[in-house]
Amino acid sequence: MAPDEVVHEDTQLPVTDVDLLVVGGGFTGLSAALTAARLGKSVLVCDAGQMGLGASTRNGGICSGNIRHDHGTLEKQYGREFADRVYAEGIEARLDLAHFCAEEKIDCHLQMTGRFTGAMTPKDYDSLARNIDALNRIDGHEGWVVPRSEQHKEINTDRFFGGVVRAEIGGYHPGLFYEGLLQAAKRAGVLFSAYTPVNSIETDAKAGKKIHTEKGSVRAAQVIVATNGYTGTTRPFGQFLRRRLVPVQSCIMVTEDLGADRIRQLMPSLRMYGNTAALYCYFRPTPDRRRILLGARSFDRLTPSGRSVAYLGRKLAELFPELADVHTDYCWLGNVAFNTSQLPRIFTHDNIWYAAGYAGSGTVWARWLGKKTAEMAFGLSNQPSRFYGEPPKAIPFYDGYPWFINAINTSYALKDKLKAVLYARS
Ligand SMILES: Cc1cc2nc3c(=O)[nH]c(=O)nc-3n(C[C@H](O)[C@H](O)[C@H](O)COP(=O)(O)OP(=O)(O)OC[C@H]3O[C@@H](n4cnc5c(N)ncnc54)[C@H](O)[C@@H]3O)c2cc1C
Repeated sequence: MAPDEVVHEDTQLPVTDVDLLVVGGGFTGLSAALTAARLGKSVLVCDAGQMGLGASTRNGGICSGNIRHDHGTLEKQYGREFADRVYAEGIEARLDLAHFCAEEKIDCHLQMTGRFTGAMTPKDYDSLARNIDALNRIDGHEGWVVPRSEQHKEINTDRFFGGVVRAEIGGYHPGLFYEGLLQAAKRAGVLFSAYTPVNSIETDAKAGKKIHTEKGSVRAAQVIVATNGYTGTTRPFGQFLRRRLVPVQSCIMVTEDLGADRIRQLMPSLRMYGNTAALYCYFRPTPDRRRILLGARSFDRLTPSGRSVAYLGRKLAELFPELADVHTDYCWLGNVAFNTSQLPRIFTHDNIWYAAGYAGSGTVWARWLGKKTAEMAFGLSNQPSRFYGEPPKAIPFYDGYPWFINAINTSYALKDKLKAVLYARS
């Protein structure tokens, strides 16, 4: 069943009472729904649009379970034990993803290829190396430094000052994974209602919550909100979340077919790749290893303009000057979401559960936090996620429209330029 087959032409919801109502049918929502269904609960997932058309089928498929802060920064802010536990949970979440794909026979080209992160300056190389040392102390991590003199074995560019490999990271085909997850949820008895925006949620003395949608109302004992970067700016129910979550657009380009030999010549280790720039850029061979997929900031909100396409093309040419003239066959964008802590979060407010804020790394985290949230909502998690806690702080003078994003992106771009200039002068 493809995502677009889950369309309810009905003008009514398929049920009036459920144990769990999930708002949002991306990785978080489907994973929560599947987990609850397997606990014997009745579940309805409502999505405002076509199932999966949020970030979950638009992403680059890099399965990093990345944490925005390196280990040292987390340790300084929250202490060593928390930092260790967060990174250990990343290992647990990645293993759980691989196990899930194997159990459900989801053929989504999941491969733990490792990820190479290229250092933009020698100072970045030193700090990457320190982070690898800290991570290698934690079970399941396996990382090593790659000095500049050897980086051509990883990637055929002179752009970086060496880098690091983290072997436990990999990649998959997000569309195929989404479809496998959707099928598993359907087999478990989850009901879906696509094109069904949830407008408001109120307390119901008998059931717990009453949820109002454009196709009628439904009562539920538990509600999980899984709208992440697509929470929007207008609906009454999303107000609490959107004051705490900043949607940021990320844009992806895919080159023309370059052929398997050329890809292997450019990226000999065929890993996932990233860099240390403040304006982060990620790239990888496509699952068929014939094209390059590259993602970075977007200049647009809904569809990529010529400016975004040209920017991504420049990023590709900075890495591989010989690709300056290759054609971009595909380009699209989608929303990721950040909170002020830049850590994924599970929290409750007014007896509603929320899981959100993956800071651009949701292929591992969204599925994992969806699962953990459902377990906690039904009191069945004897090991709650380390990301469970107080709601993130509300951002002052902000109600979901990120008017400050362009200024932040500009300051990051300046920071990257300054770093390059200072290094050139040193
Ligand atoms: C271009 C791009 C590249 C990315 N690359 C990577 C990557 O390589 N690696 C990685 O780890 N992560 C990546 N990500 C991030 C990752 O895709 C997301 O973190 C993850 O998919 C979030 O899943 P989700 O289920 O929480 O949200 P989403 O998949 O965004 O789903 C949210 C859903 O909520 C629905 N919704 C919103 N409001 C309502 C409402 N009122 N009623 C009903 N439904 C509603 C929306 O329609 C949407 O379908 C990328 C994201 C983008 C956009």
